[in-house]
Order: sequence, then structure tokens, then C-alpha cells
Amino acid sequence: MYRKVIIARIGEIALKGLNRSKFEQRLARNMRQATSDCGPANIRWSQSRFYVEPENDSYNIELAMKRLTKVFGIVSISLAYEIESEFDKIKELSYFVMNNKLEAMGNPKNVRFKVETKRGLKSFPMQSLQVSSEIGGSLDDDYECLIVDVHNPDITLFIELRENTYVYTDIVKACGGMPVGSNGKACLLLSGGIDSPVAGYMIGKRGVNLCAVHFYSYPYTSERAKEKVIELAKLVAKYTGTIKLAVVPFTDIQLAIDENCRSELSTVIMRRSMMRIACRVARINGCSAIITGEAVGQVASQTMQAIYCTNEACDMPVYRPLIGMDKMEVVAIAQDIGTFETSILPYEDCCTVFTPKHPKTKPSLKEVVEEEEKYNYKELENIAVENIEVISCS
Ligand code: ATP
Ligand code: MG
Repeated sequence: MYRKVIIARIGEIALKGLNRSKFEQRLARNMRQATSDCGPANIRWSQSRFYVEPENDSYNIELAMKRLTKVFGIVSISLAYEIESEFDKIKELSYFVMNNKLEAMGNPKNVRFKVETKRGLKSFPMQSLQVSSEIGGSLDDDYECLIVDVHNPDITLFIELRENTYVYTDIVKACGGMPVGSNGKACLLLSGGIDSPVAGYMIGKRGVNLCAVHFYSYPYTSERAKEKVIELAKLVAKYTGTIKLAVVPFTDIQLAIDENCRSELSTVIMRRSMMRIACRVARINGCSAIITGEAVGQVASQTMQAIYCTNEACDMPVYRPLIGMDKMEVVAIAQDIGTFETSILPYEDCCTVFTPKHPKTKPSLKEVVEEEEKYNYKELENIAVENIEVISCS
């Protein structure tokens, strides 16, 4: 039997200069973590390729492939077979791989194919074109169903000549981006909606480690609404690694705003409180930024004027990766990354429970700050922070 190896290709990391090895080491660590329950394997890298080499047959290679497509920094992966770099052996392996592929396709007739060889091993005695044409010609002669077509093939048989040689037919797309942990840490405001998990995914994709904060207004929002948010954090953590979720008891703050402040400004005042608390959680967790799922104009609290008022309460950079996106674009990403189905479960969010009938879409900072003084937010926010429940989501 031939040895199976997963080849993972990197994207942006390959463009890094002197720092490149740091990114590579980080990626290897993240790959190891993501596949830790697949069995024992060696992970090594050379020339913009990472190799996952299982130590024995018990290794769950299908599961590892699935996991690696979600590791940021990897652009694509292939399940390859490995052999010594000797022409006869490579040819034999090519037949084996082609056989497997045809079988998996249900042995159809008239299959167009080509062989593509990459030669990273300069000492190999043949040019890559020569390897492709000899093996391609031979396959063409021996298989009645195969027809050479270099322009529009149904199957491409890839041969990578390196220290050893790798043969495969399929390239599976992965997430791309930068390895998580290579670009610092940020705190995600995670609601139960569609947007904020996508915002977390997008920032995570740029290599940022995440923690999250959720505001929870029990009994106005149910235990199941909280479970839903934990589930969303776990789904995002499939890409970013473990997310520490701080669940903030928010009921008393919402009630105080409801009782004391003009209802048309209550949403913006509530959001300012969320921001202040999020900044505190962020600092405690060593974060340098806040992330939200806001997009211009999506709701009354996301007009330019309302975001200005919200932002002013926060003394740390706030990044809003969805700011210029349409809801449909966000939904498409949510579906793609697997958070959509959970996001649309019909549990209420604390924002919606206390939503005023006529929120002001163009609040001025002056009136908001004046109105905010009408409730004892400092004290209530201290109590909320003291009573945070921390849940590790992975
Ligand atoms: P989403 O789909 O993310 O819920 P939304 O369109 O419902 O977004 P809002 O409710 O105004 O928008 O919230 C805007 C952003 O504020 C959210 O994307 C999220 O980052 C944050 N946010 C809202 N509610 C909460 C909450 N209960 N806990 C933590 N963050 C929240
Ligand atoms: Mg929401």
C-alpha cells in the first residue's frame, strides 16, 4: 500500500519576508490543534507546502481533511499518495491513483484527462513535460475510457516531484486568510443574529484571536437564547480555535434605561453601555479591539449618526467588518461557514425585547449623553461586570 499524505497549500503567508517562519510555525501549531483528535501524524513544511504525514493507518484522514479546510492560512488541500522519486515507481503509482479516481467516478466512458508535473527536485533526470507526456501517453494507451485533453480535462493527475513524489487528482478549496494568533486578539460582540458570527469569522480569518461577549437579559430572553449564542460561538471556534465567551447579565441595565430614559434614545443608550462593558472585558482578556456585526443603515441604531454616538462610548478601536455589506451578502457567508441555520433559530435577543416603537435614527451625541445621565450606569455596569459568567467554547 502507498502512504497517504495531506498536502496543504498556503496563500498570503508565502508573501511574507523575514517574518515568514513565525507565520509558518503558527500555522503548523493551529493545524496540529485542529487535527489533534484524528490520530498521530507528523506535520512539516517546505517550499510553500505543508505536509500532514499520518504515523499509522488508524489516522482519520477524511476528518483531518475536513478540519484543515477550516484552518485559516491554508488555501487548498489535496489527499496525495507518496512514493520515492523514481520514474517507474511514479508511473505505477499514477496508474493506482487514476484507477481510484475512475472507480470513484463510477467508471464512466470518454473521460478527458491530462497529467501535470511539477518538478521541485532539480536532480531528477527528466523534465516535467517529459514525465507528463510519458505517463499521460501510457495511461491513454492502456485505458480505453481515457482521452488526452490538456485544455479541458475532467481529471488532472498531478505529479509533484520533490524529495519524494506526490500524486493526486483533487484540490479542495480551503478558507485562506492568515493563521489565527498571528495578528493579535479582539473581543467580538456576539448576539444571536446572523451578522455577528460572520463578523467574527471575517476578523478571525485575518489571523486574529477572538474572545466574545454576549449581553443576556434573563428572564426577558430565555435560557435557550443563551444556548444558541454558545452554539454560535462554538461554530465560529471551529475556525478560530477556542473562544472564551463572557455572558453579561444585562437585565438591570435595560430596565433602568427603560424606566429613566426617553424611549426614542433607549437603543443607542443601551448600545453605549454594551460598548463600555465590552471594552472592559476586552482589556481583561488582553484584546486591542472590539468587533461588531454592524452594517450601515441595517437598523435604526446603525445609521451613521447612531454609530457615531455608540462609538463615542468606547475607548478602543472598533472594527466592523460588515459595515459596507448588504444583508444578502452576509447571509451568503453565514450559509457558507455554517452559522446561518443556528442564527435563524427563533429565540429573542435582548436588543429586540426592549426595542422602542420609534427609535431616533439621527440622534445627536449631546442629547444622548444628557439622557444617559438619568440612570446610574456606572454602578450598574460595575455590578454586571462582577457577575459575568465565562464559558469556554470549542
Ligand atoms: P446580528 O445579526 O449580529 O444580531 P443585528 O442586525 O441584529 O445584528 P443589532 O442588534 O443592532 O444588529 O446589533 C448590532 C451588533 O451589536 C451585532 O452585530 C453585535 O455585534 C452587537 N450585539 C447586538 N446585540 C448583542 C448582544 N445581545 N450581545 C452581544 N452583542 C450584541
Ligand atoms: Mg442582533
